[in-house]
Amino acid sequence: MDTNNIIVYLPPVMLGVVAFAFLLLWHLKISTSWQWSAAFAQAGLGFALVPFPVSPTFDIFVAGLLYIGAAYCYGSAILLHFGAPMQRRVRRLFVGGYIVVHTIVVFILESLKAELFLTDVAFACLLGFALFNVVAKVSNVADRAMIISGVLLVLDTLTRTIVFTFFIRTSDQMADFAVSDYNLAVTVTTITIGLSFPFTALGAMASAAIRRHREASERDPLTGLLNRRGFELAVYRATKAAVAHGAIIVCDIDHFKQVNDGYGHAAGDNVIAELAAELQRHLGSHTVTARFGGEEFVAFLPHTSLVEASVIAQSVRIRFAGRDWHQAGIDRQITASFGVASIVDGEVSEAAAIECADRALYAAKTAGRNRVVVAGGECDCINTVDAGAVKTPPSAARDMAVDSRMSAA
Ligand code: GH3
Ligand code: MG
Ligand code: MG
Repeated sequence: MDTNNIIVYLPPVMLGVVAFAFLLLWHLKISTSWQWSAAFAQAGLGFALVPFPVSPTFDIFVAGLLYIGAAYCYGSAILLHFGAPMQRRVRRLFVGGYIVVHTIVVFILESLKAELFLTDVAFACLLGFALFNVVAKVSNVADRAMIISGVLLVLDTLTRTIVFTFFIRTSDQMADFAVSDYNLAVTVTTITIGLSFPFTALGAMASAAIRRHREASERDPLTGLLNRRGFELAVYRATKAAVAHGAIIVCDIDHFKQVNDGYGHAAGDNVIAELAAELQRHLGSHTVTARFGGEEFVAFLPHTSLVEASVIAQSVRIRFAGRDWHQAGIDRQITASFGVASIVDGEVSEAAAIECADRALYAAKTAGRNRVVVAGGECDCINTVDAGAVKTPPSAARDMAVDSRMSAA
């Protein structure tokens, strides 16, 4: 058995193993895995007809259908992976058209060369179409590697078909080509590229799954906000490039136990989610907002002065306190208290600012709740300020007068 003979077993065996591996991932509820599995299984079966032929016409006809089926599934997996529109209609129409022309070429024209050309070009078009639709969405190394190996597969397919169709014309040339070192090199290249595709697909799939799990571990499922861990990581990411500077707002719903006890836990959950939504509406997209547990929220507002943060907290407080909860089955007013503190470059860290804001929140609770309290510059003085009335310029925020008492809404 020479090298050429052995090598024909490699693609079906390897693709079969890969298809099986992707099938196992399907049981882990990874959505693209069955498309990948179906694609590799079809490609493997197509290659299996080389060492295990049935009859020439059958082999050509079925192998063509299997390769195009594989290209369709590769495309589905890629589009699904990137969350791009599946374009099923146009891709199915294309496959339908291919089947008609393929049947004519195999059974009426009986041209092997035309069939090879048709199948290779159709394969490259189907796969290339999906790659073209997602290329702008590539954002990480694993996705880039998968797209590059997909593009290489398209280019390899087109190159091979052009060589076969336009440079190997006579049967003598075909026979010479079949036993040439060049053919061996072409086959090895095709197998290498063909097999790099599933491995890069596996890498992209694994990296997407890890990313999803990491994001889930950093988010609070009830409100969609970050949790404490996500908050710490997000603040770290936001401040590692530049020096931390901004404000911290903490807030806690007043007498929340009474809401739970009086209207049930589900109604309590609804109130928590509504306050989260209110915070998101008022805080800019650069703000890092988190639910720290229970009905307590923390927000980091980069490059925001104490006064600006107090005004924002005051707006949220007023909006929240003014809500009508009758539709949610709650017939009472619900309020929240807020503590605000600033993070100062090299002086007050994010952790220290949260502690300051917490002390301010505690002061708001003891002062009667439903109010915003601003922690002073050194966090040693607590200003119970009506933030809505503050006219102090941002630079003077830390010198604000102590004890200008805030009126509740
Ligand atoms: P205060 O005005 O002093 O804040 O009084 P409070 O009753 O709000 O007291 P506290 O902040 O300690 O109340 C926290 C309550 O929040 C206790 C707990 O039963 C409830 N809680 C914690 N997590 C959840 C949750 O996910 N959903 C609901 N519905 N309730 C929660
Ligand atoms: Mg509370
Ligand atoms: Mg609480």
